[in-house]
Parts: sequence; C-alpha cells; structure tokens
Amino acid sequence: MSAYIEKLKCVKCGSEYHTEQVNYYCEPCGFNEGILDVCYDYDEVLKVLNPLKLKDNKDNSMWRYLPMLPIEKPELIPQLKVGWTPLYQAPRLSAELGIDKCWIKDEGRNPTASFKDRASAVGVVKALEKNAARITCASTGNAASSLAGFSAAVGMPATIFVPERAPEAKVAQLLVYGAQVFSVKGTYDEAWELCMQASAEFGWYNRNCAINPYLIEGKKTVSLEIVEQFMDIGTLPDWVVVSVGDGCTIGGVWKGLWEMHRLGFIDRLPKILGVQAEGCKPFWQAWQNDGKLAACEANTIADSIAVGHPRNFSKGYRSVTESGGAFITVTDQEILNSINQLARKAGVFGEPAGVAGVAGVKQAVKQGIIHPSESVAIIITGNGLKDIKSAIQAAGKPISISPDVEEVRKALENNLGGNMI
Ligand SMILES: *Cc1c(COP(=O)(O)O)cnc(C)c1O
Ligand SMILES: [Zn+2]
Repeated sequence: MSAYIEKLKCVKCGSEYHTEQVNYYCEPCGFNEGILDVCYDYDEVLKVLNPLKLKDNKDNSMWRYLPMLPIEKPELIPQLKVGWTPLYQAPRLSAELGIDKCWIKDEGRNPTASFKDRASAVGVVKALEKNAARITCASTGNAASSLAGFSAAVGMPATIFVPERAPEAKVAQLLVYGAQVFSVKGTYDEAWELCMQASAEFGWYNRNCAINPYLIEGKKTVSLEIVEQFMDIGTLPDWVVVSVGDGCTIGGVWKGLWEMHRLGFIDRLPKILGVQAEGCKPFWQAWQNDGKLAACEANTIADSIAVGHPRNFSKGYRSVTESGGAFITVTDQEILNSINQLARKAGVFGEPAGVAGVAGVKQAVKQGIIHPSESVAIIITGNGLKDIKSAIQAAGKPISISPDVEEVRKALENNLGGNMI
C-alpha cells in the first residue's frame, strides 16, 4: 500500500478496503455503483506537502504532488511530461462572456493533447506495478489516444476499443502509437461494455476511469495545480468549469479542490459548473429530477462528452451537489461558436468538448447562475487539432484566389474574409 493511502472506500455502501484487497470496485455493489474512493492520511501528507515545500519543488509536472497520488513504485513513472499546464487570464474573453474575471487552464498542452493524460500516466504505472501483460480501455477517443501514448512510453501493449464515430485524428494517434485498436460498430456505451467483458475474459489491466479508482487520482491533479497557481495570483475563482461525459473528470476536479481545502491550502471551496451538450445531458436531466439517472441518446458534435450512460454518475453528480454548483447544457451551435471565441479572444484552440465550458459560462451568466461579478476558471480539456472537421465547421474556409494582387485588392474592397478579432 502506498505510503499515504489509508483505505479505499465504496461510495455506495461505505465498505472499506485495503489496496491489496480489491482491484477495481466494491464487488457487492457492482461496477455501476460500487465505485471506490482513495482516502489518504492527510495529517501524514501534510508533513511532506505544504505550500512552502511546493514552492521549492522544481518538478513542473503532476508528479510534484506524489504524496497525494496512489503510486507504490515511483521509479516506474513515465518520462512524458504531464500537467503543470498554463493558466491564462483572459480579459477579452471575460468581456464577451459577461463576467469580470475569467481564467483558462489549457489542458490541450499535455503530451497527447488532452486532459486524459493525467489519468493515463497513473494507469500505466498501476499496470506495471501489477505486472500486467496488457492494458485496455474503451474511450470516446481521448482516453484511448492518451493510453496509447503512455503505453508506448513505458513499453506496455495496449488494446483499445473506440466507437466507430471517433474523430479521425484521435484514431490516427492510436495507430501511430502502436496500440491494438478495435473500432466498435456501435456507440461508446457499447464499446465500454465490450471492453469490460474483454478485460475480464483475457485478464488485461483495466484503465476505464469509472471503475479503476486510481485514475481519478491522476485527474484531480488539475485542481491541485489550479489551487497552487491561484495562490500565486493571490485569489481563488468562484467557479471551476468543466465539461461532463462519464463524470470522472468533474469528479477528479472536485476531489482535488476538496483535498486542497482539507489540507488547509485554501479556506473556501469554489463551486463547480458541469457542462453537458443539449443532445446528451443525463447529468443535467438527473439534476432536474432529484438526482435520478436515466440513460439517454448521445447526439452531439462534442464526441468526448457523447456519453448516454455515464459510468461515474455518483462521483460526477456529487461534485456539483457538494460544491453548491450547477449543471448546464449548451447546443452544438454554441459549442461551435465557442471554438472561435476562445481562439480569437484568448489564443487557445480547443476541441468541441474542450470549449464546451466556455459556452457553459455564457449560458450560466444568461440564466443568472453565475453572477457577472464572480470569477471563473474554465478547464479546456482537449486541443482543437483533435477534431479538425468541427473546427472547419466553426471557422469556415479561406478565400480562394489567383496569385494576382488585383484580386487581393478586389477581395479587400468587397470586405471578404475580414479580420474577425
Ligand atoms: C473525456 C473528456 C471529457 C469528459 O470527461 P468524463 O470523465 O468523461 O466526464 C471532457 N472533455 C474532453 C476533451 C475529454 O476527452
Ligand atoms: Zn459497496
């Protein structure tokens, strides 16, 4: 058991386990509900991790928080640099969103260009620690390309299941990294079920974030960073905003904030805004319906959050209820507009699910959920190059022209392709 972990605790029944006792979830509660929480001995953690110690820490990656991560053999940590992504203040974007202050946390800067790298980095270390022969996951795309990259980095074979509508760039990443890729003729939900069966059948290490309690520990590091970066700025945002599919990301975001509060780094907690697509909004629907989850269709351009049956409903949902936050939905058109808006007002290019948070803030201000005087930090979860088709749909085509300056003059006179910044 790694030095600072006290126990694993089932979020449904409260049963407690040692890390050696259980691989993934609480068996009596089953994998849909018996999700485990990794609990640390925070007083012990505090002896080695405090604001002063962190200030002196030269490790500019997620591993600067090692005592709060479930790692037994740090020597197995891959070299690829994950985390310590930039936090930008975006005044021109906040003006457009109708709020005073807005920051952008650019997760597209991770090695495979999405937030998922924080989880995969932990996942491959756990697989190595358990001497697994192979690691597997099902994914809408980013967890897959991320796992492929990290498996390649440590030399572990990976088998990956993606729905056939996963964007081409993400599938290309998988293949380039040398993963074995199954493109499942079906939805992400079906790919997920298939992966669970295959993992049990063939004994592969399972990286699915909803059932593997260690993965969310990687994801929470984004919030440890957010807190540390805001301590430098001398403030804390009122809201942290993130898009929601399975619910692991938002669950990790909340856990990280909660832990920094528990450790005394901050004296209050931000509220969490969970953003879903109008065409796939099971969390939002449950939010309207006393917390009752019903699986639904997944119909949105934001493939990374096209999850009709969220696999980490309990942790995802409780992030919003415990923080006093909210869920909100945005249309595909609002998401497309946000791709342009974020790029043009802050210089950051995000994929559809990556920018959904931007659209979510705009909606939340309109609906009076976020007050204009409140400050927000939006996590941009994936890079725009992940989904070029959507980017082109958002931004249009260039002006086709002969190599003739008179044509340039004509185009200028007709005000074609004006500077839209
Ligand atoms: C996976 C992902 C999300 C959502 O994370 P969940 O854990 O599925 O809720 C959001 N944005 C991007 C870019 C993602 O890849
Ligand atoms: Zn249980």
